[in-house]
Amino acid sequence: MNSTIRISSGLAIHGGVGTLPVGEMTPAIEAAYRATLAESLVAGHGVLERGGSAVEIVVAAIQVMEDSPLFNAGCGSNFDERGVITMDASIMDGSILDAGAVADVTGIRSPVGLAQLLMERSEHVLLVGKGAEAFARKQGMEETDASFFHTDRRWAEMQRAKGRVGGRPNVLGDDPAEKSGTVGAVALDGEGRLAAATSTGGMANKTWGRVGDSPIIGAGTYASTLCAVSCTGWGEYFIRNAAAFDVHARMAHGGATLAEAVRGVVFDTLHAQVPGSGGLVSLDGDGRVEFCFNTPGMYRGWTDADGQPHVDIYADT
Ligand code: ASP
Repeated sequence: MNSTIRISSGLAIHGGVGTLPVGEMTPAIEAAYRATLAESLVAGHGVLERGGSAVEIVVAAIQVMEDSPLFNAGCGSNFDERGVITMDASIMDGSILDAGAVADVTGIRSPVGLAQLLMERSEHVLLVGKGAEAFARKQGMEETDASFFHTDRRWAEMQRAKGRVGGRPNVLGDDPAEKSGTVGAVALDGEGRLAAATSTGGMANKTWGRVGDSPIIGAGTYASTLCAVSCTGWGEYFIRNAAAFDVHARMAHGGATLAEAVRGVVFDTLHAQVPGSGGLVSLDGDGRVEFCFNTPGMYRGWTDADGQPHVDIYADT
């Protein structure tokens, strides 16, 4: 599924491709998802209205979803094979090609906030594990208790994944509940700057130490003056194909429009390898928003400069 929207300034978000099948989506669950997506858009728009940067907009939008137990990021993250929550996040400022990312972190309430601090206050792009957590403490971030991140739903998904042959993380399998709800945002601010960010708990029952595409600049997240991209799906495929950077490369070197570039990546490249591998949200410097996914749905939303939130879940809505 792929659609084009045009905004003057604003943001677009995703809450992952692991949508519940239409038949399992109760009105109450759908209302909760829609409300949180709208809240995320309103938070991002508030920053835009106050003259904030694209970087600040994507962080504000993502932090709403990180704090919500509905999504697989921050509170509500997936558990790894040990039953521990480890999270990954990244951010990129397209106007200056600066980036920050953290991987394999525990006890960090907002991994995307930590990635932003790393981008802005250090010369590094990626910190992992204990080192990233030490950096967080040095920056005055308090450790958050493990109970804050725990949800019974994700615990059950991890147990179910263990029961499957090989305990494979499930993006393609027939249990949609185990599909993830990674979150991401792209924004175009009042000065024409683009930014992208992504935050995740990774896949249910992931191998201890496994890092997906979300904190890998060029794989799960990329921003330039041409485009901003945040991906969701089976991370290993996004890493192998440098998926987010490939959107930029198709535009920069192949002369593709954003729509052509994202279709090429999501359908020609990713779908050809693993049907139903994921999707992305993207935005170009002229304000074209492209949601593109090869799955039945993707939690998503966008808002223009008027601040009106628009949210969708399935491909045909
Ligand atoms: N891309 C994430 C990962 O592989 C998962 C997701 O998008 O849901 O860690």
